[in-house]
Amino acid sequence: MATPTNSQGHAQLPPPTNIQMVDLKTQYLAMQDEVDQAVLDVIRSGAFINGPAVRSFQASLEAYLGAGHVIPCANGTDALQIALMALGLEPGDEVIVPAFTYVASAEVIALLQLSPVMVDVDPRTFNVRAEDIAPAITAKTKAIIPVHLYGQSCDMAPIMELARAHNLYVVEDNAQAIGARYTLPDGEVRATGTIGHIGCTSFYPSKNLGAYGDGGAINTDDEALAKTLTMVANHGQSRRYYHDVVGCNSRLDSIQAAILNCKLPRLDAYCARRQQAAAYYDAHLQDLPGLLTPARQANSTHVFHQYTLRIDGDRRDALQQHLQAAGVPTMIYYPVALYDQEAFRGTAANAVTFLPNTDLLTREVISLPMHSEMDEDTLAYIVGAIRSFFA
Ligand SMILES: *Cc1c(COP(=O)(O)O)cnc(C)c1O
Repeated sequence: MATPTNSQGHAQLPPPTNIQMVDLKTQYLAMQDEVDQAVLDVIRSGAFINGPAVRSFQASLEAYLGAGHVIPCANGTDALQIALMALGLEPGDEVIVPAFTYVASAEVIALLQLSPVMVDVDPRTFNVRAEDIAPAITAKTKAIIPVHLYGQSCDMAPIMELARAHNLYVVEDNAQAIGARYTLPDGEVRATGTIGHIGCTSFYPSKNLGAYGDGGAINTDDEALAKTLTMVANHGQSRRYYHDVVGCNSRLDSIQAAILNCKLPRLDAYCARRQQAAAYYDAHLQDLPGLLTPARQANSTHVFHQYTLRIDGDRRDALQQHLQAAGVPTMIYYPVALYDQEAFRGTAANAVTFLPNTDLLTREVISLPMHSEMDEDTLAYIVGAIRSFFA
């Protein structure tokens, strides 16, 4: 059947109801036979926990990241929690975290009776910088959690320098940036998550490398830390039924690992598709008054877990409603600064109650549909809908 055309002979725009923030179904259909077989193989093998699929995914992810050790676990939040548990911190120790991030990055700090110290971020890249972190360091600071927000690396070299000078651990929250690469000052290119002492990532379905359920992983190059992380994730046991420390139970199941084994070889292609969509958005949106397309972090690639705009003048919610009416879904990541969350009110974390860039971003950011299956007709429709708001 011929593509329907409008009166000017242009391809007709897709029906707005088709547009999704994330399209996991089309991505699945492109590898259906492979995934179905991999899942069936696990079911037929009966090796649901710690089966061969988990071990092969672990090895493949180590190779992909160039990481010494990968410890798969149940989700990205657990990865962060296990990382902090393995560092031997004491209650009241301070951990520095950006205030503009997903709650998990700070939640695990508070959960472990440590003190989250929230700091501001760069209003153009949305990432925390060494200069945001430095003034927050005290004698009680033990660790920093840089979050590679929306899919590009924080500028890690100055953060690592600061950490070295103050003897701090660095735990990278790489949940949104798996697939991104950071170039160190000596020219060495590293996968995000492999620059600090520990990297943590998530395989939540909508992440760039998403499972069909929950999953996560921790990585480190430090042999001793790897042993501790493995032990903590497995009930604190080094030998079965001998528990050396209080740990938790956090596993990646074999079915999820089998699915991830199908998707990991495709991750770079998925990221490239996201980068193409981002380039289209950039090219067609950068001239609009009061609208800022996302700035690229120096020394990092961007894998666009999110494509996030800023719009000034208290117009963000109006733009969101305008797009909603046109059938274009958008999301606000994140509408509330962590220091303003009810959960942190009246806690040590509330020592900070206002950070100007974070405050600005909670009011100005809006994330557009972004996934590995974006096609040009959909992009053209979304861009047209946005441009009509400014007309
Ligand atoms: C998704 C995410 C997490 C948590 O991952 P889960 O697998 O959902 O627990 C942590 N930090 C950031 C920045 C995230 O985006």
